Amino acid sequence: MILQGKTALVTGSTSGIGLGIACKLAEAGANVMLNGFGDAQAAIARVSAYGTRVSHHPADVSDAEQIGAMVSQTEREFGALDVLVNNAGIQYVAPLEHFPVERWDSIIAINLSSVFHTMRLALPGMRERDWGRIINISSVHGLVASAQKAAYVAAKHGVIGLTKTVALETATTGITCNALCPGWVLTPLVQEQIDSKARVHGDPSRATRELLMEKQPSLDFVTPGQLGDLALFLCSDAASQVRGAAWNVDGGWLAQ
Ligand code: NAD
Repeated sequence: MILQGKTALVTGSTSGIGLGIACKLAEAGANVMLNGFGDAQAAIARVSAYGTRVSHHPADVSDAEQIGAMVSQTEREFGALDVLVNNAGIQYVAPLEHFPVERWDSIIAINLSSVFHTMRLALPGMRERDWGRIINISSVHGLVASAQKAAYVAAKHGVIGLTKTVALETATTGITCNALCPGWVLTPLVQEQIDSKARVHGDPSRATRELLMEKQPSLDFVTPGQLGDLALFLCSDAASQVRGAAWNVDGGWLAQ
């Protein structure tokens, strides 16, 4: 129960990786502010099962004002914001010259600028208490590119740059800032990419196999629970000198 009495805010935690991380943080004793679209009640019910206080804020993280309201509400409701997990993210796949401008703008806003805004707003409280953990969910696409993912790759590389900057700015404090870089995790975000491959091949299991074979040598998915366990380690005292890392969890993707 290393997070007993602490509060975590996890953006994009009504689904996938965010929900998996929120569960692990709650299991370790944290009160949790969830965020994201879709079935908030189901997410609250799932995370509440660990017995800590759980709430949900509906902020659209593409909007700085709504992010401000979410951070203030977290601090008001739970008394502090100790663990910030920037996880909300979207994907769009198209060649650069056909990439819709509005998709570029929303991916940069949701996957990158929101990370700037939450950190900007959470840091003063963390500095006051001289303790904080910031975990930014980047991607292997923060370290290498894939074709047709211009906005996503640019945003995820940006998240790693931002992470390193904040790690330096907090280096002499009890606040750490790190990034996680997952390979393929089977969530709705990836299911959409499998579905579009399957529309070409007509066979979902073949589409899944091809998706993994193309990039992920383990031929197996990373799980949200594994990422939650790593996030929890980054919250521990053992990780107090892990600063500015971009930690890949990718079934060997980046070893190639
Ligand atoms: P997901 O689609 O299952 O979940 C995304 C979450 O973000 C949902 O809760 C959704 O409601 C929320 N969200 C989307 N737009 C939002 C907005 N404007 N405001 C607030 N919330 C919003 O996706 P996931 O696969 O769990 O992805 C989570 C994060 O992990 C993303 O940043 C993604 O880029 C990253 N990631 C995913 C994979 C993967 O293989 N799934 C790999 C590497 C990195």
